[in-house]
Amino acid sequence: MKTVVLKFGGTSVGSIDRIKKVCKIIAFYKKKKYKVIVVSSAMSGVTNELVSKSKLISDNFDRAEYDTLVSTGEQVSCALIAGRLKHIGFKSRSWTSWQLPILTIGPHTSARINSVRIKGLKNYIRSGGIPVITGFQGVNENLRITTIGRSGSDATAIMLAKFIKADECIIFTDVDGVYTTDPRQYKKAKKIKKIFYDEMLEMASLGSKVMQPTSVQDAKINNIDIEVKSSFVSNSGTLITGYKKSFSDQIITGISSTKNDAKITVVGVKDRPGVAASIFKPLSKNLINVDMVVQNISLDGRETDLTFTIKSEDLKKTERLIKQNKNISFKKLSFDKGVSKVSIIGVGMITTPGITYRMFQALALKKINILVISTSEIKISVLVSAKHVKRAVAALHKEFKLE
Ligand code: ADP
Ligand code: ASP
Ligand code: MG
Repeated sequence: MKTVVLKFGGTSVGSIDRIKKVCKIIAFYKKKKYKVIVVSSAMSGVTNELVSKSKLISDNFDRAEYDTLVSTGEQVSCALIAGRLKHIGFKSRSWTSWQLPILTIGPHTSARINSVRIKGLKNYIRSGGIPVITGFQGVNENLRITTIGRSGSDATAIMLAKFIKADECIIFTDVDGVYTTDPRQYKKAKKIKKIFYDEMLEMASLGSKVMQPTSVQDAKINNIDIEVKSSFVSNSGTLITGYKKSFSDQIITGISSTKNDAKITVVGVKDRPGVAASIFKPLSKNLINVDMVVQNISLDGRETDLTFTIKSEDLKKTERLIKQNKNISFKKLSFDKGVSKVSIIGVGMITTPGITYRMFQALALKKINILVISTSEIKISVLVSAKHVKRAVAALHKEFKLE
């Protein structure tokens, strides 16, 4: 008897009707004689609402209380799913993660799942029950509720699949797979049949929100194949898996873009060893994620400009931290809120020369100015003005023959 973990995202459980539909999908697997474990997100919009409430209470809301608050959405959806499954004749119950428990390590709001106690779960499944488990959360060694980062239910599903030794892990969402780029933003996007962990990890980290980056990392480390499917239509989905030779001759697999980035330039900082570390230390201490970084070559060896990107929501805090930083001196700070990162991703890049040129040329032909560049073995990212993102994605999609 195969064991399958079925994860449902927010839109998939976004209404009572949707929950009834999801229960039919669960019933389908149960009738196929699978041992089924369900992981659910909160109903769509619920977590955002809870986050907004926390902001109304305090602009520096306690992180432990934040976790206790925002984790409640999943309790509602899981109880509704389990209740509906019972209604249609199955044995089912909900499990909040502290009841298992799912143990996490690391800070509140961005903890990581370390272990899952599966004994109770296994017995329940063996007795024919369908456990419905809250995604996105766990409990730490002090028995405080933790959350594992927005969209974290993906990671819950993958870690459950790991600990329960599931044969399959299926992520049900509101699109029928991973596409070459966000199909809601670009109509000519094409569904990808199979994608490597590394490519999916880059795409997810670079803005393709269909999978949470941490979850792809967990899947890669533990070698767990993931299928991404729609809970709305029964089309075949996308397989996320490990690298196998002769996979495809495609050079670029996908294109990602980000929203809500901001660019900061610290103008006229002293060009001496340790200056970048002095600038970034307080940011890192405050959990502000610095992304692209460029430092100009200083002509006189005395002063330089340092440019980096962060999420727009961190802009005010970053500005304050830099201005308060007694370890650096600079002439001016400049900000640009309206920037986005556009990236091309593909393992084929490793063995194919000339990709960088083709990317830059395609953007130049559309008169799109590149502000910052960063690369890795399997991706090239450029920062552009946010107003050019759609045109940039379209130009690159065409250039790399993804449509
Ligand atoms: P869920 O609530 O099920 O977790 P998400 O909203 O997190 O769903 O992820 C699904 C969304 O991801 C889609 O609606 C789609 O707009 C977006 N998306 C972004 N990039 C891609 C991509 N490359 N392929 C598919 N979907 C993508
Ligand atoms: N409900 C959480 C969120 O909105 C977790 C998830 O959807 O996976 O981020
Ligand atoms: Mg998601």
